[in-house]
Amino acid sequence: MLGGMQDWELRVSGLIDHAAREHGQREIVTRWANGSETRSNWAETRHRAMQMAQALWRIGLKPHDRVGTLAMNHAHHLVAWYGATGAGGVVHTINPRLFDDQIEYIVNHAEDRVLVYDAMFRPIVERLKPRLTTVEKFICFDDGEFLDWIGSEDGAAEWARGVERDPCMLCYTSGTTGNPKGVLMEHRSNILHTLMGVAPQALALESRSVVLPVVPMFHANNWGLPWACAAVGAKLLYSQVNEPQVLFDLLRTENSTHLAGVPTVYFAMLQYLDATGGEMPPIRHAISGGSALPPAIIERLMRAGIRVGHAWGMTETSPVASIAYETADWDDLSFDEQVRIKSLQGRVPYGTEVRAVDLDDRNKVLPRDGRTAGALQVRGQWVIKRYFKAAEDAVCDGQWFDTGDVALIHPDGSVQLTDRTKDVIKSGGEWISSVELENAAVAHPGVAEAAAIGIAHPKWDERPILIVVRKPDAELDAEEMRTFLSDKVAKWWLPDAVEFVEGIPHTGTGKISKKDLREQFADYRLP
Ligand code: ADP
Repeated sequence: MLGGMQDWELRVSGLIDHAAREHGQREIVTRWANGSETRSNWAETRHRAMQMAQALWRIGLKPHDRVGTLAMNHAHHLVAWYGATGAGGVVHTINPRLFDDQIEYIVNHAEDRVLVYDAMFRPIVERLKPRLTTVEKFICFDDGEFLDWIGSEDGAAEWARGVERDPCMLCYTSGTTGNPKGVLMEHRSNILHTLMGVAPQALALESRSVVLPVVPMFHANNWGLPWACAAVGAKLLYSQVNEPQVLFDLLRTENSTHLAGVPTVYFAMLQYLDATGGEMPPIRHAISGGSALPPAIIERLMRAGIRVGHAWGMTETSPVASIAYETADWDDLSFDEQVRIKSLQGRVPYGTEVRAVDLDDRNKVLPRDGRTAGALQVRGQWVIKRYFKAAEDAVCDGQWFDTGDVALIHPDGSVQLTDRTKDVIKSGGEWISSVELENAAVAHPGVAEAAAIGIAHPKWDERPILIVVRKPDAELDAEEMRTFLSDKVAKWWLPDAVEFVEGIPHTGTGKISKKDLREQFADYRLP
């Protein structure tokens, strides 16, 4: 027997229909790379997305065909998300910061039939064009080309019909080991992720929200923001460039309530504030993920009255799998305790589950005691089962997906990431968390950024070294750094050496690139 309720497939085109109907005039503001600004809204976004769907049908797009985008954040890119998915296709966001070979690999692997790109990435497209064998149509977002292409359609059609488990979004992980892997999200997984995401204890979005996603639209489903903002009719702010002064100006002039970016975005913005002596922008929510947000930054944001939404997840989890939300006794906690809770990777919302298992024996589930770190596994309604075109599932018994993260789980369910399985430093048979060392180091007022890596050691297997970027004018030396750390981490965790550098390499998604650092320091000799 079935229940007696209506049967509507959960599809993302329903989100844009809702946004256009109920929040049609709510704006989408874009600051373009050339300094100009355009203002669109949800109603116009829907109209243009429908025109794009018609243009795609006209060139023969069939259900589930992939439409690639190689673009920064802007209103046309948003149109392309809804246009490709509404046409029944799959929007495939490509990270332009990847190497040519990787872009070539993923476009061919995805079999993109159309590629829509920003003019600033034309050199990449020109270089790779002959090798992108499946792409039949290249369209530039700029110089009127995109609007001309869709402009000949009337926008008066109906979205493609299908079922909620149809694919709609394809994102490749950066592939630090081997080839990039495609995560193929579904209409349903995106809708469920959206319903979770807007909730007060997740991203806390509502129709009064004014959201600036600095996290790129080509990264990890853009944290689900194009879907979630449509669901509540939030106003969206986009900037094609990520200069702090442009972002600050946008935040101020549009009275932004939410900023979403990886920790390096917050580092850069706070540094800019310090250098210019300006005031914190009027945001109320700082959403961060992608790597650990250090307590020192959390404290500074919280002192300015900003709610920190520190989330953990990965492309494979759509991406939000846990978030540090307020506990029931929040108002009774001390400020320091609140900062501590926000520094953790948080608790799971309804829809995902986590567990930690023994690093050497994945069948052994570890207790949630806040002490025993293990391999972090996750499962749930928006968690990957199988990579695109893979022959086998990526999950083990009970659909648990092994995240590659090392974490301990506290008795209250809070997840605390201690490392990536490949970044932990193994010293004398014990594990040193590079992340904890880094967090402790960046709390020093003279440190702009810090990274810890393991260096091979004849006796201990590996020993940590700390690589530090000083803040401008800071006079910090190795001895002072070690003294500063000495009461913050166990004695045997103290780095054997501290090296000062001008800059630390980052991955295409703004994370510290441990792989590059390890290569840079491959011949390093410990003192
Ligand atoms: P990629 O896999 O392409 O680097 P993802 O964004 O999918 O991009 O990376 C996911 C990984 O980022 C997680 O497995 C985890 O190691 C790290 N990460 C994400 N959020 C956090 C966080 N809040 N704290 C620490 N690490 C995080």
